[in-house]
Order: sequence, then structure tokens, then C-alpha cells
Amino acid sequence: MLTLVAACLLATRAPEPCDGGHCHGDLPPRVEAIVDHAWAEWQAQQAEKPVQQTPFQITPQHKKDLDADAELGKKYAEIVDKELKPTEHAEFQERLDRISAEIVTIANSKRVEVSWGDGRLNPFKYTFKVVKGDEVNAFSLPGGYIYFFDGLMKYVETDHELAGVIAHEISHASFRHIATLQRERSKVQAFTIPLILISLFAGGGSGADVAAGAQLFEQAVGSGWSERAELAADWGAVQYLVESPYDPTGILTFMERLARDERLGPNYVLGILRTHPPSRERAVRMTARMGQLNIPVRRSVATTSFRVVVKEVDGGASLKFNNVVLVTLAGEDAVARGKVAAATLNDFFDRVPALFDVRAAGGRVEGYRRPLLELSPVDAALAGVSREELANTTVRQIQRGIYSLAYRVWDY
Ligand SMILES: [Zn+2]
Repeated sequence: MLTLVAACLLATRAPEPCDGGHCHGDLPPRVEAIVDHAWAEWQAQQAEKPVQQTPFQITPQHKKDLDADAELGKKYAEIVDKELKPTEHAEFQERLDRISAEIVTIANSKRVEVSWGDGRLNPFKYTFKVVKGDEVNAFSLPGGYIYFFDGLMKYVETDHELAGVIAHEISHASFRHIATLQRERSKVQAFTIPLILISLFAGGGSGADVAAGAQLFEQAVGSGWSERAELAADWGAVQYLVESPYDPTGILTFMERLARDERLGPNYVLGILRTHPPSRERAVRMTARMGQLNIPVRRSVATTSFRVVVKEVDGGASLKFNNVVLVTLAGEDAVARGKVAAATLNDFFDRVPALFDVRAAGGRVEGYRRPLLELSPVDAALAGVSREELANTTVRQIQRGIYSLAYRVWDY
């Protein structure tokens, strides 16, 4: 997430100033050949597409800027590839390749609103790599070289959340944030880079080292830019995700869970997020932006923890939310009734209700004064209580779920 910092740390190792984005230096000819090949490949892909939203004409200057990013990124990728080992989980790499390909197609063809960075349509030939390490982290080098740690791949609950992080990292590359920073702050070039690189990688890229490097870097270039970059990437991600099969809520729930785990204690490994906890403002802004686009916030889709799941158990079916059993239904049709109730309950939880929005009314549970769940005499018999008592217990369990949800959503 907040790893533009890491990207910048690497970017500052540029051996020569890159005024206007021309960084040819003493690059081996094969790099230019690779970039040209990628470019030709991209153009061929575009030609195959039947409909283009807008005719995309690239100027020679624009092509130079894109080439400069690709060359710079390739150089840093070579350094990173020496320091970080590829994952041993082939399934992580396959999952990342599959989802990132979908988001890349969108980012390379759709122009979006860019609140900070280069607002042109900047297509790149992207490569995504999963690398060893427990950090819940990912980072983006210029030109589309993007890295995800094992820790992040394990941390995402759904493809929606992974798509959210992918779209965020793509936005950093696509909005050319490193080039923008270099243009805005020339002193970045002069900063003592090797020191930071050592702190980044000497310990095998542990969270503490990355955090120390990030702090140094932030002090050197001043504050403010990274927040603008993060907000721009968050907003870019939402805009890409609405065009994709994935629910944009994924990036929000990912951020909310990171914020919660950050609070759990200093020993929790979150890499660079130690120095840059996801701010309440960031999540609030994202929720507001989603509202502007009429995108419903559906945590039941984007997560597994905030989704009511039906599980077949002895004598019936239990409904669980965030590892709490809300109620166990009984009878032959328990699973079918459970599925209907789960859909209604998910809509209810997605609205982040207050504790008093759920109540018992006879043998039934109501949310916002509408039926949420009808309990049968068979359900009551299985629990060994009356229908009214079972409804009261169920309400208390739903309130526990609301509490855990509200705690996650509002208390950053
Ligand atoms: Zn970021």
C-alpha cells in the first residue's frame, strides 16, 4: 500500500538527473530493445481491440517519458531481483498474474482522473512478481515493475481485496509518481541514496529496516507528497476497479483491516506501515468517493470475515459472522432457510447498523424494523429454549457482530 516510499527510495538511486524524464545514460542497448519490443507489443494489442474509447495518439515527447520510466524501472528491478527471492508458492504467483492481467488491460486503455501525478494515459508493459517475505506489503517501481510479498498474498481475504491492492500499485506507475516527485523536488536527486538502500535491504528487507529507510527518506524530502500520492493511487484504484469484475470495496476493507492490526501492537509485522499507518482520513475519503460514484460499500462481498456464512452442522445449519455463531437453524430445510437469511443479514450488516437497529419481536428477529430472520419451533427445540428466548439470544449475537464491524469501520 503505502509503498510509493519504497519505490522512491529505489528511484533516488538514479545516477543522473532526469530533467523532463530523459534518462538514457549508459544503458545497454538490449534495454532499449526490450522497451521497444514491449511498446510494439502494446500497440499490436491495441490494434486488435475492436472499439477504443478515445483515439489515442502518442506524441514523441510522451513516448520518451514512457521509455524513461521503463528504463529506470528495469534498472531498479535488476537490483531488487538480486535482493529479494521469488516466492515458493506457485499458486500465489498464478493468482497475482490472473488478476493483475485484468486490471492492466483497463489501466492501459482507460484515462482516469489523476489528483496527483501525470494525468495522461500512460500504458506500460507490466510485470508482477511475488517475493519471499512476511511483510504485508507491495511496491511499485517506475514503468510497471510491481512486487508483492508472500505476507500480503496470505493477508488478502478475497480476490476483490487483492485486485484493490493491484489497482493501487498500478496507479503509482501509471500516474508516473516517481517522475512527478523528481520534477517537484529536485533535491531528491542529491540525497544520500546508498544509505537508504542498505537500510532497506541489508536485513533481507525486514519491516523495521524498511520503516527506518522510509523515515529517513520522508525527513529528506519533506512531508506531504506521500499522502498526495497515496490518495491519488487510492482514487485511481477505485476508478479502475469499477471497470473490472471486482468490487471496489476490497481496497477499503483491506485498509480497514491493516488499521486494526496496526493497533494490535508494535510486534505485528506491517513493514512500512509502521511509519505510515493508514489514516482515518484516507478511508473516509475513499468511502466518500465511492458514494459520489454510487458504488455501494459491500463488505460482505469483499471480505470473508464480514460475510454471513452458512455451515451445515449436526441437526441443522449454523449462521456465522466474523467467527461468531449467530444462530443454528434446524429441520430438513435448515440450509435453504439459512442461505436466504444470510443474504438478508449481509445486506443488513453492509449498512453498518447501530446496536439498537436489531431487535427481537416475538419469535422473529428484525433489522431496521423489517424481518431479518424467522425462527421456527424446530429451531427453538434444537436449542432447548422457547422461540422468544432464541430470538433474544440471536439478537445479542448479531449485536456482537455489529460491534466488531463498527469497531473496524469507525475506530481507525
Ligand atoms: Zn501506495
